[in-house]
Amino acid sequence: MRITVLGKSPSWQDAGGACSGYLVEEDGTFLLLDCGNGVFSKLRRYRDYLEVDAVVISHLHADHFLDLIPYAYALTYAPRQQPVPVDRWPGTRRPARPRLLAPHGATETFRRVVGAWGAEDLIDNAFDIQEYAPGEELAVGPLQLRFHTVPHWLPTCAVDLRSTVDGSGRFTYGADTAPTEELVTFADGTDLLMIEATLPRPERGGIRGHLTPAEAGDHGSRAHVGRLVITHFSDEMDELWARQEAERAFKGPVSVAREGSVYEV
Ligand SMILES: [Zn+2]
Ligand SMILES: [Zn+2]
Repeated sequence: MRITVLGKSPSWQDAGGACSGYLVEEDGTFLLLDCGNGVFSKLRRYRDYLEVDAVVISHLHADHFLDLIPYAYALTYAPRQQPVPVDRWPGTRRPARPRLLAPHGATETFRRVVGAWGAEDLIDNAFDIQEYAPGEELAVGPLQLRFHTVPHWLPTCAVDLRSTVDGSGRFTYGADTAPTEELVTFADGTDLLMIEATLPRPERGGIRGHLTPAEAGDHGSRAHVGRLVITHFSDEMDELWARQEAERAFKGPVSVAREGSVYEV
């Protein structure tokens, strides 16, 4: 299984960057894990967006789904998606309509967002939407997906991916989360944990929703993961400091997610 970081910014983009988006490839199957603002453009650098089999959304914060909008426009209006010849394209009777696996209530949220300018069914029509529930298991080609609730400010699932292809490993994505034993248990023993490290220090008040790099390292350590990749942090945070913080708790290899980084498990 190959994972490419398309975007790793938190809720505001790095200079030239994109919010959350990870391309997972296995044996000719392509899965896009989260599709935050800026991700559609980055995806196009690596793969044809018509080849993506499924898009998986961890939760309904803007930085994890907003680029479904330009993606849906491309699927709807690109000349090669039309039933009749347009320009150089011959026309198709089978336009691509990727699966969109999204949390419960997502269809209604998408309708409200694009309904702001009267395009209510834009995302419904462009994608084959399936709302998943925590605890559910789904398959996309050879990839087996499991979802598990983690504490954030709205329903959010960590996602675990395994492959039926021999020799392939296991990849766990922590999504956005407050410190939690739930993620430690869910990710236990995984080959690679992609975990958020958003905060230079814990939130000063209110309900917690994110991790510091030291907390990310601690979660990786307690989950006995093979490799830790910290992500979802701004270019306004010192990444060397962040890695050192994570390494204080986690003794295995720690990487800092960068756009274009590729990991094999
Ligand atoms: Zn986020
Ligand atoms: Zn979030």
